[in-house]
Amino acid sequence: MSEIFLSIIVPIYNEQDVLPHLYQRLINVLEPAGFLYEVIFIDDGSRDQSLPLLVNYHNDNHNVKVVSFSRNFGHQVAITAGINYAQGKAVMIIDGDLQDPPEIIPEFIAMWKQGYEVVYGIRKKRKENFVKKMFYSTYYRLLKKLSNTDIPLDSGDCCLIDRRIVDLMNKMPERNRFVRGLRAWLGFKQIGLAYERDRRFAGKVKYSFIKLIKLGLDGIISFSYFPLKISVFLGFFISISSVIYSFYIVVNRFIHPEQRILGWASIVVGITFLGGIQLLMMGVLGEYVSRIFDEVKNRPHYVIGCTLGLEDRNAQNISYHPGV
Ligand code: UDP
Ligand code: MG
Repeated sequence: MSEIFLSIIVPIYNEQDVLPHLYQRLINVLEPAGFLYEVIFIDDGSRDQSLPLLVNYHNDNHNVKVVSFSRNFGHQVAITAGINYAQGKAVMIIDGDLQDPPEIIPEFIAMWKQGYEVVYGIRKKRKENFVKKMFYSTYYRLLKKLSNTDIPLDSGDCCLIDRRIVDLMNKMPERNRFVRGLRAWLGFKQIGLAYERDRRFAGKVKYSFIKLIKLGLDGIISFSYFPLKISVFLGFFISISSVIYSFYIVVNRFIHPEQRILGWASIVVGITFLGGIQLLMMGVLGEYVSRIFDEVKNRPHYVIGCTLGLEDRNAQNISYHPGV
């Protein structure tokens, strides 16, 4: 194995305004630390000046390495690529907008040295707007209730993982990745480390609403069968109700033979109600089926445009044929 002690993975999507500060702060923390490190920036198809800046950093400092995608593949895929390429004994994942301050890295290393394979960051306080905070908080609690895996509350992707976890993650072939879920699923000794999550340093949020919904669904669908099972409970409940209702109708037919044409409202309500539930459940099936379809297609997770400072594994993307 290589001598690199720590790899830092940073996904970057149009972060030209943040990058100079991010780079400086990372170097300020890493240079005095006295161990061999690598910073792997994953350029997730940026269309601004991010890539030229990264090329400069690499030319200045060969510990800086770059993986550049052929287009935007998304944050979770970018992290996955970073994990594929990282060679360190420990690997730290941070966001590229300085929300996870680089100064927290030594604390994570200290915990890892105590023997934890996974040290995940817990957001002490979210400096986001109220609606977003409510949304996140409800989501994480719902996920915890529904999921078969114990995914810690309020933990994001910021974490430090041991080489053992890295190797195992590289063997997990699934698409539609929810990295924090996969990490929790692996087990071993895991611990949360609370840290103050800053505001985004500059630029706009890169997670669009649609991307966020997709990530949320990936979390629930990859780690819970509950949505599939709702239809069983609903079907059971509705069947019982309809038996009781049919019984009532038959009895009523004999008691009040003159009321035979009544019941239009109940029929319409019944049809629309059942129609709604059926469509909803078909939608749930669709979410699972589309993800199964993604798995079956077995496309590579990402396509690389170029790499800098890394052995080019473009021809044989290692996440394409896991285990080979
Ligand atoms: N990001 C990415 N690809 C995307 C969206 C985001 O690589 O398609 C990166 C982005 O550059 C940032 C990190 O993922 O480093 C987190 O994104 P952002 O800050 O926009 O989202 P947040 O999680 O803070 O809402
Ligand atoms: Mg952010």
